Amino acid sequence: MNRGTLYIISAPSGTGKGTIVSEILKADPNIHFSVSATTRAPREGEKDGVNYYFISREEFQGLVDSGGMLEHAEFCGNCYGTPKKAVFDKLAEGHDVILEIETVGAMNVKAACPEAVSVFILPPSLKELRHRLESRGTESEETVAKRIAEARGEIGKARNYDFVVVNDDLEKAIEDVREVMRAAKKLTKLNHDTIEGVLNKC
Ligand code: ADP
Ligand code: 5GP
Repeated sequence: MNRGTLYIISAPSGTGKGTIVSEILKADPNIHFSVSATTRAPREGEKDGVNYYFISREEFQGLVDSGGMLEHAEFCGNCYGTPKKAVFDKLAEGHDVILEIETVGAMNVKAACPEAVSVFILPPSLKELRHRLESRGTESEETVAKRIAEARGEIGKARNYDFVVVNDDLEKAIEDVREVMRAAKKLTKLNHDTIEGVLNKC
């Protein structure tokens, strides 16, 4: 069985990555979403074990100390991390896996798993980003300000990603991310076995 592909998706908070990823997941049951652990409080409607594992700082530190995290980072005063086992189990079963994580964690995953494919989703502008964050209505004024302050630095890091998609028109952005995910399957770095296989048949 072929190993699944590991995708990293990042974007400044409010860009629309959650919206895009949930549409992609709905349409393809072969793709597994990596549920992260976080110390942030749940937003209205968020479910433990579905959107995140909502845990205390002590539990979070325990997971890090026991080597249970593939990566972890602090973002706007909260800790976020990717539980390692589920990701590697799903990849070994042949499922593709999406990590929806911020830029520090993304670069750490790239270092640990060079075969991972990274996609950065850009907002059309910082003005529109603020508008989306405010109209989502999940964050206090102070948290919106913190997240906007982070956005410029995060956008600069888009240069380190394999692919960049702009989320202006939502439907187009979803299609662009799907296209990138399909194209990634043909990257040379993911096809060494395919090349060997053909050579061995000659
Ligand atoms: P993120 O996961 O990146 O923080 P969300 O997916 O929660 O962002 O999207 C932030 C807000 O922007 C949501 O209210 C969402 O409905 C809205 N949104 C997403 N994409 C677009 C788009 N292309 N145009 C306008 N609004 C959008
Ligand atoms: P939010 O609080 O809006 O859900 O997420 C804040 C930021 O943390 C987003 O950029 C999101 O992608 C990122 N994030 C979510 N889970 C993880 C994770 O497991 N690791 C890292 N490094 N970032 C994460």
